[in-house]
Amino acid sequence: MSRLNTQAPLMHLQGVHKTYRLGQHVIPALQGVDLTVQRGELLALTGPSGSGKSTILNLCGLIDAADTGTIALEGQDTRALTEDQRTLLRRDALGFVFQNFNLVPVMTVAENVDYPLFLTGVRAAERRERVAQQLQAVGLQDHAQHRPDALSGGQRQRVAIARALIKRPRLVIADEPTASLDSHTADQVLELMRERCHAQGAAFVIATHDSRLTRRCDRVVALLDGRIEGVSK
Ligand code: ADP
Ligand code: MG
Repeated sequence: MSRLNTQAPLMHLQGVHKTYRLGQHVIPALQGVDLTVQRGELLALTGPSGSGKSTILNLCGLIDAADTGTIALEGQDTRALTEDQRTLLRRDALGFVFQNFNLVPVMTVAENVDYPLFLTGVRAAERRERVAQQLQAVGLQDHAQHRPDALSGGQRQRVAIARALIKRPRLVIADEPTASLDSHTADQVLELMRERCHAQGAAFVIATHDSRLTRRCDRVVALLDGRIEGVSK
């Protein structure tokens, strides 16, 4: 990825429109979004259900493409990428955290965290060291050999955060990561994300409609009906 420009913002969306079609219905999910994600920032995307948060995350995560407008990752227009290049970037530059954790139930905590490294052929000794570091960082070093079903929801999300960070991505995308958690646990998980974001220098973009959580974020972007309504902090 020699063409990536390290001076450019991490991610830049400009004039982005996205429409879904369901039979006869045309659903304008994004109607001209301009958004910059800076390196290492914790950015919250808020807004009511249906306002376009997940659509933006899917574009930032190179899971979907815009109808019009540009999406640049480190200065590179993502439309110019081949499907293989998009897959490699998703694998190496991006991490994902989901509402329902998406852990592999038959794997231990350590195996879940290790899996992204295993897939890319990092040697075993280095993998062991990095998995131990990540588990320590999320406070789960004593649960390495447990299976996800032995953990609480908050602990499972900590495993998912460790898994998202193990490849040292530049951007972690989290869609409603605390929606399955009680409010106290949600607060702790967001605090962990904030701490890991700043410690590891990875940017986080977190979609949440829990306005209490946005206090911990560096910047808050409010969406309404597929448009940015305001940016605070
Ligand atoms: P949010 O995450 O803020 O709830 P979404 O980005 O999921 O919002 O959705 C924005 C709009 O696009 C909504 O009107 C939603 O119903 C619609 N939408 C999202 N995904 C699809 C899809 N796959 N097919 C059709 N409509 C969709
Ligand atoms: Mg959503």
